[in-house]
Amino acid sequence: MRKFLCFLFLFLLFQTIMSQEFKNWNIIEQSIQNPEKFLIETRRKLHQNPELSYQEFETSKLVANFLKSWGYEVKTGFAITGLVGILKNGEGPVVMIRADMDALPIKEMIEWEYKSTKKAMLNGKEVDVSHACGHDAHTSIALTTAKVLAENKNLLKGTVVFVFQPNEEGTIHETLLGSGAAQMIKDGLYNAIPKPDVVFGLHVWHSQKGQIRLEKGYVFSNADFFTIKLTGTQSHGAAPWNGKDPIVTASEIIAAFQTIISREIDLTKGGAVITVGSIHAGNRPNIIPQDLEMQGTIRCFDKENRNLIYESFKKKVQSISEMNGVKSEVKIEHLTPAVYNHPEITDFARQSLTQRLGKDFVQQWTPLFAADDCAYFLERTQGLYFFLGIAPDDNIHQPAIIHSPHFFINESALIFGVKTFCSLTFDFMYSKK
Ligand SMILES: [Zn+2]
Ligand SMILES: [Zn+2]
Repeated sequence: MRKFLCFLFLFLLFQTIMSQEFKNWNIIEQSIQNPEKFLIETRRKLHQNPELSYQEFETSKLVANFLKSWGYEVKTGFAITGLVGILKNGEGPVVMIRADMDALPIKEMIEWEYKSTKKAMLNGKEVDVSHACGHDAHTSIALTTAKVLAENKNLLKGTVVFVFQPNEEGTIHETLLGSGAAQMIKDGLYNAIPKPDVVFGLHVWHSQKGQIRLEKGYVFSNADFFTIKLTGTQSHGAAPWNGKDPIVTASEIIAAFQTIISREIDLTKGGAVITVGSIHAGNRPNIIPQDLEMQGTIRCFDKENRNLIYESFKKKVQSISEMNGVKSEVKIEHLTPAVYNHPEITDFARQSLTQRLGKDFVQQWTPLFAADDCAYFLERTQGLYFFLGIAPDDNIHQPAIIHSPHFFINESALIFGVKTFCSLTFDFMYSKK
């Protein structure tokens, strides 16, 4: 009897495991091949019509129209151009897929048929615009995934929510937040969609074509900008004792910043960076100026380290300025938190993708001091932000990093992004009871 019960238990366990597996991947794979033309055409269209942060009007319209035509419930009006598309098939988990839509004020220097020649206004000046960060690829990959999922709606076991966000690039706006993701959340995104169980986002990367790179924990750092204003007392450069010198004060402050990283933070929790990228003061060799302004960025992974850096940072600016009789003002803009991949989701994704794409296509990622505001979604919902290799496989184009005017995407890599999103969506839905 005991043997029988044991056998029955194992049989039921086996049945449960088997029933959780998504068995129709071949149908999806077939379906992915069909819209490959759509994927490339959409990417080229977006590439030739790049739009700057918070100006993604045409891109947003194009995305909304396609989503509606495929049966998605579309909601707009988040962060000016941000939108969501919702598709439901029965009860089950809610999978959120996020894409960013904005381009950069960079002149494309690669000569090819679909090169961007667009210009736009930025801070009152006309600038060249291009998708030098590959967000045209992100939008077209997510859109094509939405198409494939709509075509196979009957195979879904739950809900998919596509989020297309503006301003990933952190453009500072008069009234809106410097992050499109944060602004969408502020504008009520999470009240307008069913509560997501998981979020997936990707970024193209100049690594081997089609390869997916992922890692659990922090993969990108936080990114914050600071501005320090110092006000001293102007005097003749030949009689410095008559003034209070903001330039000497700034040099002491910058030197003091170096020990925050090397002597104060816990380096076992990951590194950190403080960079002063601009200083402006004075206009004559023989005058000590009254005012100085410097700007820079602070980046790290760990939250405790981040708090410690800010405490020490402000203290140093204040005390050194006081010591020199100079007034100080510090402004810090918290642009994005660090991008954190949830360990269980990362393990799940590695397994899913190894099975669907093959183990050579799934590689590890090494954390960088780069930033992406997908971090805001990952703060609220467990998930994964991964990297898709788009390096050229010819000898004509050299792989260039994002934000380079020579950045170039191997379009034959994009289909792997669609495969990855589809694989993660179905496997996640079918892994839940
Ligand atoms: Zn970028
Ligand atoms: Zn980007």
